Formats: sequence, structure tokens, C-alpha cells
Amino acid sequence: MSPASLSVVSDAVTVRVPAKVNLYLGVGPLRDDGYHDLVTVFQALSLCDDVRVSPSTDLHVTTTGEGAAEVPSDGDNLAARAVTAVGTRVGRTPKVAIDVTKRIPVAGGMAGGSADAAGALVGVSALWDLDLDRTDLADIAADLGSDVPFALHGGTALGTGRGEQLMSILARGEFHWVLALSRVGLSTPAVYRELDRLRENRSQYDIEVERPDELMAALTSGDPHKVAPLLRNDLQPAALSLQPTLRRTLRAGIDAGALNGIVSGSGPTCAFLCADEAAAVNVAAELSGAGVARAVRTASGPVPGARILIN
Ligand code: C5P
Repeated sequence: MSPASLSVVSDAVTVRVPAKVNLYLGVGPLRDDGYHDLVTVFQALSLCDDVRVSPSTDLHVTTTGEGAAEVPSDGDNLAARAVTAVGTRVGRTPKVAIDVTKRIPVAGGMAGGSADAAGALVGVSALWDLDLDRTDLADIAADLGSDVPFALHGGTALGTGRGEQLMSILARGEFHWVLALSRVGLSTPAVYRELDRLRENRSQYDIEVERPDELMAALTSGDPHKVAPLLRNDLQPAALSLQPTLRRTLRAGIDAGALNGIVSGSGPTCAFLCADEAAAVNVAAELSGAGVARAVRTASGPVPGARILIN
């Protein structure tokens, strides 16, 4: 490669980062640090944001696409915080422009902000030609948010701790999803608080979370008919309590022919598992017509975690 083309590579780096859906989200008791112990199964979906990082005079973020107006452009932005964290780690002033092309719904329970942070982490490491390995990146990622390590990891994985400790799961084949995007977002801390409120009368010691062994076996079989009845999300009652119209959305997806439907993470996006790609296209068309969602998307999984796009 000539010096000229090398300098082109260091001018900007674009990273593609996936949304996630939780096929299983078992929420344990509230911990002393304000988090909940989780046992979760993540799958990375083909609905992706693109995060472009390039040298600049200061640190700033511009966002275009899905929900762009609701994304902070200052230091509160999780992608900007990711770049600052890397700068602090390596002793470098973060003079970086971050441009995010959003497709993942904002405040949708699909870890869009976490995905952008993972993209910025990988992007700035390449831009600055840093020698950070996967473990270094995963450590910084876990400090930024519980879902950021999975956005780096991708695929299908079991998450424990507060969701940041990951183990790959063998998932055979491709799973086809329909996503119903809601008109109004939900705040993740508010949904966890609502779950704690709904559990008020239960002793924290009664709350047990099991490892989803049956689901993991079904994923290995690659058969969506076996996976569908095993989808479970402990945050779903809390999300439905805060946004009761989601019940109608879930019912409409099943009526349209999905194998099963679930609130994605803390919601309000509803994710429907379908038998195959053709079924997903049909379910998406019916759901669009039913008027129960702001927008409807199809996506497949698993896909890889944050990856640099070659220009
Ligand atoms: O880690 P992250 O910043 O994504 O978490 C957002 C919020 O979600 C936390 O502040 C907490 O209220 C809630 N949360 C939780 N238990 C987890 C993960 C998140 O209570 N395991």
C-alpha cells in the first residue's frame, strides 16, 4: 500500500454495528449498586447503525436517520463518551468527529446507543492505530454500559452479571425477525424501576433466574419452531404496564402469522420470530397495515459485532 493510500485510511474509519434482541431476559434481584443480576440470551440483528470517526478540531457527534433528533450531540452521547474513555486510557485529546447513520430505533430496547458506543470504540482504535486487544475494548465497553460488550461481540451469546459477561452460544442457521417500532420510546431505568415496583410484594430472595438450557439447545438445532415458544422477557410486564398499547402490537404480530412475539429488552420495540424470510415479509406487510406501530422492519440474525467497513 502506498503512503498516499495509508493516509486515506487514517482519514476516516466507518464501523457497522448491530442492534440486539434478547431472546431470553431473566432479571434477578436489585443489587446494591442499582443494577440487576441478569441471565440473558442476546442475538445481534442485521438492523445496523454506521459510525464514522474522523480527525477534527474537537469532539462532536452528528446523527442522521432514524430518530436522529432525539440523540444528544454533546458529551452525553454514548459514542462521544466512548471516544473520551479511549482518549483517557491512552493519554490523547479526543479531537474526533463522529457521524452516526442511525437505523436502530432510539430508546427502543435494541441497544442502539450501546451499538454506537461500540462502533466509536472500534473506530477510534483504528483511527489512532492503537494496540488495544479485545479484552481491553471489552473492559472499556463494560464501563460505558451493560449492553456495549455485546455490540462488540455480536452473534448469539449468553450474558450474565449485569449483561456484560458474555459466552458465545452455537446458533445454527439464520433466524428471521419482524420489528415493530413504537411511536414513543421507553427509558431503560424507568422500566427496571417499574419491574421493581411490580415485584414489591415479593421477597428479593424469591426471585430466581435460571439458565435457559432448553432455549440454548433449541438455538443449536436452528429450528425457529423450537425457539419460538421459549422466548421470555422478565421486563415485558413492566414495559406493558408503562405502555399498555404494546399488548395490541404483540397480538397483531401473532395474528399476522409470527411464531411468537416479545418486547425487545426494555422495549418498546416488539420483536416477532418468523418461520422463514417469506413469512417475515408477510408478517411485516400485515403489521404495517394494522396501524399498531410507527414503522415495521425485517431483520435476520445472528450477524457479527462491530466491524470496520472497507472503503
Ligand atoms: O448499563 P446501562 O447504562 O445500559 O443501564 C441503564 C440502566 O438500566 C441502569 O442505570 C439500571 O437502571 C438499569 N439496569 C439494571 N440492571 C442491569 C442493566 C441495566 O437495573 N443489569
